[in-house]
Amino acid sequence: MDQQDFYFLKELVEAPSPSGFEQPAQRRLRREMEGVADELHTDLMGNVIARIRGKKENALKVMLSGHCDEIGFIVQFIDDNGFIYFQPIGGIDPHIVPGQRVMIHTGNGPVLGVVGKKPIHLMEAKDRETVVKFKNQHIDIGAAGKEETAALVAIGDPVTFAVTLERLQGDRLTSRAFDDKMGAFIVAQVLKEVRRRGAADVDLYGVFTVQEEIGLRGAKTSAYGVAPDIGIAIDVSFATDCPEVDKKELGEIKLGQGPIISRGANINPRLFQMLTETAREKEIPFQVEAAARATGTDANAIQVNREGVAAALVSVPLRYMHTPVEVLSQADLDYTVRLLTELLYRIGKREDFIPN
Ligand SMILES: [Zn+2]
Repeated sequence: MDQQDFYFLKELVEAPSPSGFEQPAQRRLRREMEGVADELHTDLMGNVIARIRGKKENALKVMLSGHCDEIGFIVQFIDDNGFIYFQPIGGIDPHIVPGQRVMIHTGNGPVLGVVGKKPIHLMEAKDRETVVKFKNQHIDIGAAGKEETAALVAIGDPVTFAVTLERLQGDRLTSRAFDDKMGAFIVAQVLKEVRRRGAADVDLYGVFTVQEEIGLRGAKTSAYGVAPDIGIAIDVSFATDCPEVDKKELGEIKLGQGPIISRGANINPRLFQMLTETAREKEIPFQVEAAARATGTDANAIQVNREGVAAALVSVPLRYMHTPVEVLSQADLDYTVRLLTELLYRIGKREDFIPN
């Protein structure tokens, strides 16, 4: 990843995009895809679809999906003192929210706030053992009263954690929203790589899906629209090389050891085989994760689309998923881009993907 790629990743991750409010991230992705895609359009749901036509007539259609939405909050109510009450968007642990800085993305630009927290001195012993429910948490923007807050913030404004992407030691990065804007980043990088190398046989669709975090909604409609033969979701999965995650339950997954290729019912076995063979031949490290049932990713919606699609899930190991301090290794992003690019030039006939 060069400096320019790094800044693209940083801008994309930092562009606010809670589910349903993905437009700033989508604008950044469209800008990146101009001059790369043969066709570029945004559908009525807000999915951005970038196509690179295949060299062959009637070639197989391959859809790569990276969801561009992130978890966040939505403004629900402003009380008489100007404090803001909110709902979570997507799966957020209410434990980690009090004491955080948040950004409210209003019609007139960002407004900084903090999620208030009762001082520990004032907490009774039993309060320290329990979680403060979202309905009892509030955002303080420093306003003097309801009128001042209501002049700045509207009901339904989206909210994100107010953190940016930063470097940690080695090649490790921390940010909010790597889940899954790093997947959208990988899809964009693969399309750029294919443009550089010259189109593959396959008809390639890079889809930046919306609303994954609230039920795979963008993948459902865009997979119907694109009608791919092969669909690969690029997402994050749990690294187990940090405290308090159980390898017996999740397997051995480490940062920096390459993409995770899932195996199980949600995955076409021939596509799985082609992915692992490609990785071995090109000496790209990879890890395998078992998935006993439908995964909670776009790969699920894509697989059961229309009359069925050969689906795969390629994930990047991530620590502390759905927190403002997600951690990943840059090397894993590079390995994943290489693996997917190499795979595209190997895809031939539809029959090759019929399990038998
Ligand atoms: Zn997620």
